[in-house]
Amino acid sequence: MTRDKVWLSSPHMGGEEARFVTEAFETNWVSPVGPHIHAFEEALATYNKIPHCAALSSGTAAIHLALIMLDVNPGDEVICSSFTFSGSCNPIAYQGATPVFVDSETSTWNMDPALLEEAIADRRRKTGRKPKAIIAVHLYGTPARIEDIMAVARRHEIPVIEDAAEALGATYKGKPLGTFGDLGIYSFNGNKIITTSGGGALVSENEAWIKKARFLSTQARDPAPHYQHSEIGYNYRLSNICAGIGRGQMLVLDERVRQRRANFEFYTRELGSLPGLYFLPEPEHSFSNRWLTTVLIDPAGTHGVTREDIRLALEASNIESRPLWKPMHAQPVFKDAPSYVNGVSDRLFDLGLCLPSGSNLPAADRSLVAEIIKKKLQKA
Ligand SMILES: *Cc1c(COP(=O)(O)O)cnc(C)c1O
Repeated sequence: MTRDKVWLSSPHMGGEEARFVTEAFETNWVSPVGPHIHAFEEALATYNKIPHCAALSSGTAAIHLALIMLDVNPGDEVICSSFTFSGSCNPIAYQGATPVFVDSETSTWNMDPALLEEAIADRRRKTGRKPKAIIAVHLYGTPARIEDIMAVARRHEIPVIEDAAEALGATYKGKPLGTFGDLGIYSFNGNKIITTSGGGALVSENEAWIKKARFLSTQARDPAPHYQHSEIGYNYRLSNICAGIGRGQMLVLDERVRQRRANFEFYTRELGSLPGLYFLPEPEHSFSNRWLTTVLIDPAGTHGVTREDIRLALEASNIESRPLWKPMHAQPVFKDAPSYVNGVSDRLFDLGLCLPSGSNLPAADRSLVAEIIKKKLQKA
């Protein structure tokens, strides 16, 4: 096969990144200190209309520090969306706390606010205490019903960490995702809508938390000429080199959102009316960044063609696609965690496929994906 592999979602540089990185080399700010870090934090904060931002080494590190800000400790329980990537909930375990998983609703595929309410009530009954925090995820760039989630959380006075790792550039009622919760996080991993090769950020209205997060992310050094520590620190700061890449990527973020949304529009136009195929419409008041285009393939409507059949047909043509996230309540590592399950995320995992969605996906490759899927369905 001579054609290059078609990737699910690959890095897409805008052109200015190398200039910022070169500047870092020329000024020798080749470390986790330097002017790009501050400028990248400023750019993110301005874009998201939130006052405070700390640039970190990953989205997972951002969630970990958020849990530390909220004083999550061994024995505590933290509620998390079950339908997500493990980076959302691994930091709960780092803190020795217990994750409690809450399933999705069909209209957004994100945390069901009514089930969240039930889960909180049940945890209070069973443990005599309320969960210490809630991690609410916006998956694939589609907004959760975040106002309803916040209303439940406020009623119980439980702080919310908004995991917008996949949702930079998406909004709910015009407000950027990641800015509804007490703390929000973003990821700049290689496959995300923009990348710093690896990185993340923590945002909040609360300046003290963000200052504390920066302090902890640079090994918690007390002000002294020697190295002195009164607290356990972490090596979680973003490097000035990576922040330079991030500055370049911020210049093209809106363009990347347009390109990702165009992929979704193309796939729905080509495939949306085929029996057995389903694309999640944009929920009310929501603007999705359509990070990945996802499709449900229901064998009851396709004469038996399954998600796996389609995935393997694409793979045979050197095209990468991937099942939707396997819910956390079904992961071996979290099998003992309390879970509030309604069947929605299990069904999404059974039927769902992420299609090639890069902002740099050539139009010819995208058409090929649609043709292969159509052909597979016609044969059945
Ligand atoms: C990518 C991702 C994370 C973790 O981000 P990293 O930068 O890879 O550590 C967390 N949550 C979700 C939903 C993600 O997709």
